[in-house]
Amino acid sequence: MERYDPRAIEPKWQRIWAESGIYRVDLSRAKRPFYNLVEFPYPSAEALHVGHVYTYSGADTYGRYRRLRGDDVFEPIGFDAFGIHSENHALRVGRHPMELTVENTERYERQMKELGTLFDWTHTVDTSRPEYYRWTQWVFLQLFKAGLAYRAKAPVNWCPSCLTVLANEQVVGGLCERCDTAVVQKEMEQWFLRITAYADRLLEGHAKADFPATTVTLQRNWIGRSEGAEIAFRAEAGPEIRVFTTRPDTLFGATYLVLAPEHPIVAQVTTPDRRAAVAAYAEQARTKRELERVAAEREKTGVFTGGYAINPANGERIPIWVADYVLMGYGTGAIMAVPAHDERDYAFARAHALPIRVVIAAPTPAEVPGAYTGEGVLVNSGPFDGMPSQEARAAITAWLQERGQGRPAVTYRLRDWLISRQRYWGPPIPIVYCDRCGIVPVPEEELPVRLPYVADYRPTGGGASPLAAVPEFVHTTCPQCGGPARRETDVSDTFLDSAWYFLRYPSSHRDDVAFDPELTRKWLPVDLYAGGIEHSTLHHLYARFITMALHDLGYLPFEEPFKKLRLHGLIIKDGAKMSKSRGNVVNPDEYIRRYGADTLRLYLLFLGPYEEGGDFSDAGIRGITRFLNRVWALVTSPRGQREAPSPQGAEGDLAEMHRTIAEVQADIEVLHFHTAIAALMRYTNWLAEARQHLSAEAWRQALHTLIILLAPFAPHLAEELWEREGLPYSVHQQAWPTYDPKYLEQPTVTLVIQVDGKVRDRIEAPAGLGKEQARELALASERVQRVLDGRKVADVIYVPDRLVNVVTR
Ligand SMILES: [Zn+2]
Ligand SMILES: [Zn+2]
Repeated sequence: MERYDPRAIEPKWQRIWAESGIYRVDLSRAKRPFYNLVEFPYPSAEALHVGHVYTYSGADTYGRYRRLRGDDVFEPIGFDAFGIHSENHALRVGRHPMELTVENTERYERQMKELGTLFDWTHTVDTSRPEYYRWTQWVFLQLFKAGLAYRAKAPVNWCPSCLTVLANEQVVGGLCERCDTAVVQKEMEQWFLRITAYADRLLEGHAKADFPATTVTLQRNWIGRSEGAEIAFRAEAGPEIRVFTTRPDTLFGATYLVLAPEHPIVAQVTTPDRRAAVAAYAEQARTKRELERVAAEREKTGVFTGGYAINPANGERIPIWVADYVLMGYGTGAIMAVPAHDERDYAFARAHALPIRVVIAAPTPAEVPGAYTGEGVLVNSGPFDGMPSQEARAAITAWLQERGQGRPAVTYRLRDWLISRQRYWGPPIPIVYCDRCGIVPVPEEELPVRLPYVADYRPTGGGASPLAAVPEFVHTTCPQCGGPARRETDVSDTFLDSAWYFLRYPSSHRDDVAFDPELTRKWLPVDLYAGGIEHSTLHHLYARFITMALHDLGYLPFEEPFKKLRLHGLIIKDGAKMSKSRGNVVNPDEYIRRYGADTLRLYLLFLGPYEEGGDFSDAGIRGITRFLNRVWALVTSPRGQREAPSPQGAEGDLAEMHRTIAEVQADIEVLHFHTAIAALMRYTNWLAEARQHLSAEAWRQALHTLIILLAPFAPHLAEELWEREGLPYSVHQQAWPTYDPKYLEQPTVTLVIQVDGKVRDRIEAPAGLGKEQARELALASERVQRVLDGRKVADVIYVPDRLVNVVTR
């Protein structure tokens, strides 16, 4: 008997699929469009890594399933080839990114084709190609015209290794997201996108899309909306000091103010004798990183300015301090300190012998000294004594507002998105500077502003991009007045390239528009987007913002780009995170060569719930090989003589098949591929036993069902077996088998039956009853009838699968 040889059948079917074009979707004619999106890779590393293969295996299995269910599945792929990731790789290997990117994308494409995915190679995008980045520049110009792109001088994050500024989102724990170097602060003039204008919409949008809870939490925390009050403190010298607080109810307990060392009014409130000390402290703070400054466990340093302000609640004179745990970038750069009810203020007050006044009485007295940050009743708070703290927040704010000393306010942690990069490998920002006209956008018809070939593309470190050293690029004429002008020489962030790429795929063939309105309306928003968790506060947030902005500008009929987002977990190897230094990195190429792509796909998906990931082991993958060999043998070996008809007769013969279809289908729907595969394994074992007593007809049906159910997971093997069964090409163009629900075991639940809130009976019932059915069941109960004794039923309250309450009045 011929054995299962993936090395022979996989290339064969990849060739036939490509030649027959069976995965191509006619985008304008499709009847049931389903946009199945996967994150596109940075072609920057040596090769595709196992994380990519995991993303594609899950998404592709789901896409293939939807296709069998009758959808027109569009599953495009492309390359996020522009930007710092690819450039850093080019620097590392000492090649020019223009040449290297071409080689890398070719290699990635070959590898991805070997996985046997549905990817539509006629709709690819490469963000580093002028045909693409012309439209990235166009997106920038639309934002600029709408006032959503602006240039400003601000303290920014600078990576001393990548020699460029970074967005806040690219600084993780104080380190550069790309290279783990500690980021420093620099004052520079940069381009920003006004994502903060969308802070509330980004929060509200969560309700309009199906996102994983972790993504929602990460984005919510990142946006960091807090409600409270802005309160004005009159300084004895200098202007008013405005502070933001989430706890205006503690205002009577504010015993000092703290300014960030960078606060512009520090000089005005500082008395002459304190100037030297304050200046020295500010100088010292400048050298510290933000994360270091706000670390909870760190000693709270600070310096007294000599100045005082008046607490607007009680008219008390309170000292003004400068401390680096207050940051200029958050709130107003000044805080009212309430040491009795804030941990950091408490630590600071203790360290500097400042007064601590309790204004919220805790329901139970604290056993250990420290700040009480919970709720309670106000004390030492004049007219507000005795009021619950939650209520007092609004009451004190309103009282201040009446007297012109405060107002309700909201702050966000989110900052505007810094997109300038002092690097080479990215789309030039399409702006020119003219001495007469100022900042002038490049006219749309002149796009793209092409990135010139620059032999020495290394970052300069001087705060200017290597493009600044190319006179032919820099010198241009002003589109407005025709006079001499200079081009912007920074390029934009790679995350701007990827913030809109899903809009481009369906329209990738159009060179006159960024995206075709008809195709966009038909195919977007994306139906399912699969990727990794690491992009929650970067790419996913940016893509949502750009989509909302383009919607507001009239380009898109929707605000949220993704209907459903699913993020897979991490694949580890033999219990440890994969890393080069551990030598436990799974190279997909090697495994495909050894075991075949189907085995690798199936194994990755078998490791655990897709959204949790799993532990890769060589012993485990061999188990999958054994399973596929069993399937192979089952189909290809002759069945021989039928021994005896099954005991339950033809009717019950295929119950197992119906159950398996239902189970595999339900599992795939929720991306529980691992349990779907387990069901297929069980079904295969059952088939091996049943083959001796099933009728020829039943056997064929049972076997063909197995092949179709397996097709989304192991597309090559299924296709080969389908052919060997003498069935018409292709298994991937069949209909998903249907099951008869009468074979499914129905789970039951116990319904508690009440009459007017009193428990009167308990009834076993099938799960998932509707209200009407539950009502009938409850009223049919003898005990209920006895209690009702002919009284009329006014209403029935139903808690599904748990309780029915019959109400009589
Ligand atoms: Zn870096
Ligand atoms: Zn001009």
